[in-house]
Amino acid sequence: MSKTILLITDDSAEAKLLQQFVDPAKDEHFDVKWAGRLSDGIDYVRSGKVDVILIDTFIAEGSGMESFDRLYRLAPYLPMLAFCSTENEELARQAIHHGAKGYLVRHHLGSIKLPQMLLAIIERATMEEALFIEQERSAVTLNSISDAVLNIDINGKVTYLNAVAEYMTGWAGRDALGRPITEVLQLIDAATRVPVLSPLEQVLKQDRVVGLSANCLLLRRDGHECAIEDVAVPVRDRRGNVSGAVMVFHDISQAQAMTKKMSHLAQHDFLTDLPNRILLVDRLNHAIALAQRHHGKIAVLFLDLDGFKHVNDTFGHMLGDQLLQSVARRLTACVRNSDTVSRQGGDEFVIMLADDVHEQDVILIAEKILAALAAPYNIENLELQVSASIGIALYPTDGQCSETLIKHADTAMYHAKSSGRNCFQFFKDEMNLRAIERQSLEGNLRQALERQEFVLHYQPRVNLETGAITGVEALLRWQHPERGLMPASQFIPIAEECGLIVPIGKWVLREACRQSQAWIDAGLRLNAIAVNISAREFREKNFADHVSSILTETGLDPRRLEIELTENELMRHGKSSAAAHAALKKMGVRLTVDDFGTGYSSLSSLRTFPIDTMKIDQSFVQDVTTDEEDAAIVSAMIGMGSSLKHRVVAEGVETKGQLAFLRERRCEQGQGDYFSRPLRADEIAELLRTGIPKMLLA
Ligand code: C2E
Ligand code: MG
Ligand code: MG
Repeated sequence: MSKTILLITDDSAEAKLLQQFVDPAKDEHFDVKWAGRLSDGIDYVRSGKVDVILIDTFIAEGSGMESFDRLYRLAPYLPMLAFCSTENEELARQAIHHGAKGYLVRHHLGSIKLPQMLLAIIERATMEEALFIEQERSAVTLNSISDAVLNIDINGKVTYLNAVAEYMTGWAGRDALGRPITEVLQLIDAATRVPVLSPLEQVLKQDRVVGLSANCLLLRRDGHECAIEDVAVPVRDRRGNVSGAVMVFHDISQAQAMTKKMSHLAQHDFLTDLPNRILLVDRLNHAIALAQRHHGKIAVLFLDLDGFKHVNDTFGHMLGDQLLQSVARRLTACVRNSDTVSRQGGDEFVIMLADDVHEQDVILIAEKILAALAAPYNIENLELQVSASIGIALYPTDGQCSETLIKHADTAMYHAKSSGRNCFQFFKDEMNLRAIERQSLEGNLRQALERQEFVLHYQPRVNLETGAITGVEALLRWQHPERGLMPASQFIPIAEECGLIVPIGKWVLREACRQSQAWIDAGLRLNAIAVNISAREFREKNFADHVSSILTETGLDPRRLEIELTENELMRHGKSSAAAHAALKKMGVRLTVDDFGTGYSSLSSLRTFPIDTMKIDQSFVQDVTTDEEDAAIVSAMIGMGSSLKHRVVAEGVETKGQLAFLRERRCEQGQGDYFSRPLRADEIAELLRTGIPKMLLA
C-alpha cells in the first residue's frame, strides 16, 4: 500500500521541488498530494487518506504556528514536518512545540534520503498510535474493575492509581503521583493499630509476590478506615530487574461484616438472640475442658415453661413470641455474664453456670429464676402469667460430656413438671432408669393396639343412700406381654404425649359402648357408662361426629354415655372446645368433670361449662377422716356441686369411715375400692346382677 504525503505550500516551485525528491514515478511507495491553501490541506486530512504532512512554515493564510495548531488538533496521530528555508529555521523549530515531529530545511534536501526518512516517521507514528490505544485500553480496564490498583517505581514512588485506588486512599491521582507509597497507602494492624509495612515495599525488597497480613486496615486520607485484602507483585524490565511493583487490593469490610453476621445467625436463636443449642454445646464443651483441668464444677439447668402452649393457643403466636422474648430477658438478668442462657427451641431454655458452682449456689439461682419468671408479664395490655419447671444436672457427678449433661437436666425437668410444676429438681440416677423404661414402653405401646393387648375394666359408681349401681366407669388396662396387667396411670401419660392416645381412645370408646349395649341386650340394668377422654382426643376436629357414629354403630342410647374430662383439661382448653361440648350435649351425651379439686377453676368458670356431674378427686376423699382441711374442702365441694345442680361423685372411697363422712354431708354418689375395685367385663356383669353387698352400706 502506498503512503500519501500531503504537501501544504502556496509556493508551486517549492511543491515541484519536493515532488522531485519524492517522485512517485520513481518510487511507487508514495502518492503526493499538493494543497495550495491550508483549507484544502484540512479537507485532505479530513478525507482520512493522509499518512504524513509536510507544511511550509510560510503558507499564506494565518500565522504559521496557528496552522500547525489547527492541524495537530485535527489529527494528533498524523506525523507532521515543517518545511523551511535556512533563514526560517528558528520558526520551524518553534513548530515542534506546536505539534510538528521535525523540520526539513530546503537547503539540505539534496543531502538526505527523503523517502526513507518519511517512511520511518510514518512507521513510528503507527507504533505510537498502537501504544496509545494499548494504554487507553489498560486505563479503561483498570478503572472498570472493582479492585484498587496502585503502582510504584523502584524508588517506592507512586506512578499510577486507578479510580478505586483513588477513592480508597482518598488521594487524587495527580496529587499522589511521585509521592512515597508510605504517604499514600497508610496501613495499620486492626488489633494493635501499629503501622504495617506496605507489601509494595516488601516486594521491592524481597523481589517476590507478597500478600498483606490478615486484619489490616487502610486509613483513608480523611481518616476513614476499611479492612482490606491485597497482593503485591513485582514488575520487571526487559533485563529481568525489578523496576517497580503493582498492588491490587479491595475493601473486605462488607464481606467481613457478612461473615460475622452469618456466624452470629448460625449460633443464635432468631427470636430471642440468645445463643442456640450449637453455641451452648460449644461453650459447654469448652467449660468442661477447663473444669476437667481445674477440678471445677458446672451446672446445666434445663428449663421448660409451664402452660406456654396454652398462651400460644389462646392468644396466638405473636403474643407467645413476645412472651418468650420477655422470658429470655428475665433469664439473662438472673445470671452472670460468664454464664450462658440459651434457647433450645419452643419454650425450652438451657442455662449453663460454669463458674465453679456448688449445689447451694445452684439452688439459689434456680429459686431466683422461678421467682423472676413468675412475676406477671404485661404484653399488649394483657397481664400474663407463666411458671417454669427446671431440671438440673451437675458436672462431673451427673455426666462427663455436654450431651449427657443436657439430657439428664432434661430428664430432671420432666420430673419437676410431673411433681407439680413451678419447681426445680436435681437429676438422680433413678430418673434415668425411668426414662429408659419409658422409651421401651412407648415402643411397645405402638404395637399394643394391633396385638389386641388392651382390655377394659369397669368400676361401679354407687348411690350412697340406696347402694344402687348408678353406672360404671371404663378404665383401660394393658395386658403387657412381659409386665402383666398394667393400670392406666402407668401408660396413659405416655400415650398422651406421643399422640397414641387418639387411636387408643377410639378403641376404648367403641369397646365401652359395644359392651354396655351387650349388657343391656342381655337384660342387665345399666344406667350409665363413663368413658375417660384426654384433652388431645377431645380436641380432634371431628370428635363429636366420631362419638355420634360409634353410638349409631353400637346402638347405645346417647343419654347413657358420660364423657369424663379432667378439671385441668376442661379449664385449659374449655374455650376452644366449646363447640364440641355443645354438639355432645345436643346429642344427649353427658359431661363429667373428673379429678375435681386438682385444678384451679372458680365457681364462675365452672358454670360456663354444660356439666352434669362432678367427681371429687380421690386425694381429698382419702384424708377426709384424718385431715380437717380436706374434710372442709370436700364438704364445700359437695355444697357447691349441689348448688350448681351437678351430680356429685366422690372418687376413691376406700373405707367405711369415708363413706360415713360422705353420707353425712349428703354426697349423692361414690366410687372406689370400698364398693368394688375395677373388674373384668364378666365380673362386672355378675355384680350388675347381684348388686353391691348390702352389708357394705349398713
Ligand atoms: P380416673 O378417671 O380418676 O380413674 C380413677 C382411678 O382411680 C383409676 O386408676 C382407678 O383404678 C383408681 N381407683 C379406683 N378406686 C380407687 C380407690 O378406692 N383407691 C385408689 N387409690 N384408687 C382407686 P387407673 O385405672 O390407673 O386410671 C388412672 C387415670 O387414667 C384415670 O383416672 C383416667 O384419668 C385415666 N384413664 C383410665 N382409663 C382411661 C381411658 O380409657 N382413656 C383415657 N383417656 N384415660 C383413661
Ligand atoms: Mg375418670
Ligand atoms: Mg378421677
